[in-house]
Amino acid sequence: MQPATSPKGQAPDIAAQVTFAMRIMGIAPIPRNYELYYEAYIGSNPRLTKELAALGSKATQEELDEIGARYFAHIHHAAGVERAHSRLAAQLNDLLALMRDEQFALESYNRVLGETADNINNKSAASVEILRSAMTLLSRATEDTMSQGKELVENVSLKSVEMDVIRQELDEYKRIANTDSLTRLANRRAFDEKLSSVYNSDQIRTYTGLLIADIDHFKKVNDTFGHPVGDKILATVGTVIRSNLRREAFVARTGGEEFAIILNDQTVEECVQVADRIRTALANTPFKNSKTGVNYGPITLSIGVCQASLAEDPVDLYNKADVALYCAKNAGRNRTMLFEDGMKKDTGRNWLLYRR
Ligand code: GH3
Ligand code: MG
Ligand code: MG
Repeated sequence: MQPATSPKGQAPDIAAQVTFAMRIMGIAPIPRNYELYYEAYIGSNPRLTKELAALGSKATQEELDEIGARYFAHIHHAAGVERAHSRLAAQLNDLLALMRDEQFALESYNRVLGETADNINNKSAASVEILRSAMTLLSRATEDTMSQGKELVENVSLKSVEMDVIRQELDEYKRIANTDSLTRLANRRAFDEKLSSVYNSDQIRTYTGLLIADIDHFKKVNDTFGHPVGDKILATVGTVIRSNLRREAFVARTGGEEFAIILNDQTVEECVQVADRIRTALANTPFKNSKTGVNYGPITLSIGVCQASLAEDPVDLYNKADVALYCAKNAGRNRTMLFEDGMKKDTGRNWLLYRR
């Protein structure tokens, strides 16, 4: 995209140039379009710039969204949610309009009934003629009301099918927003939500434990074998952790090479056992490249454990499990440590200083 001339002929800032160019090309001034044209303008990705330029000045919103979905998945998931919400709102509006029509039809029917009854009552002798015309009137009104009611039922069931499709889309967006794309485990956002729910009930808190597991010397693994190998190892570590837990246990990748596990209905001894089971399973997992024969392993974990009943709130619980993890690192790694009162981080040799 060529930088556009500013309306006043001065050298404007990039944001103004991008907005101006979008306006003259007739592009809707919405955030996700701005993001696309901004990136094209600064040339952060030459392929994106080329694809946008190829659309020329007649780009449709669909074409822009298609490019956006490929280059900016995170923003376009949010845009998808936004679109699903507006579609849901539109369907609800349609439903309300249908209900209003139905109410109107019933009111009319009621009026016809009332007027006919008045007519009959006002005649001193209801002749056959009057009764016949009243019957005709009533049966026509009844038929109309019934067919309108049938139409309403059909429309409502159609709408509820459409709303169900949108609801499924929203569920899928929610799943994506809570999932770590590398390991397919829950992500930090989902973990924060889950951890805060622990303190919603005293019952849950008593038998809940938090485990924080951090891969040992992972920087060295990356430095020696490269980041892509590191990524594959991270995914395998995620699988090993998951497969050593019961289905109802919650596990998340909470950051780079750190995982967190929330265990419910478990005593403190059981939490430590689970941590050790995961640790042993990982240490015994072969990490060998079958083609080259290079051995990336062994890959080990240090794990800090803390019971929710020992902490005041989710932040305190996380910090205490983290202190235990710190102690496990300091004690030589590849081990589990349980948080105990008085356990502290040794500020002289602060392992955390070396964490990203
Ligand atoms: P320690 O035993 O003390 O935990 O040592 P460490 O090397 O694991 O810890 P440090 O915090 O020094 O380094 C963590 C490394 O994890 C740094 C970074 O290269 C790597 N890492 C973090 N996120 C990712 C990721 O998504 N992919 C890959 N491949 N590596 C990552
Ligand atoms: Mg580490
Ligand atoms: Mg770490």
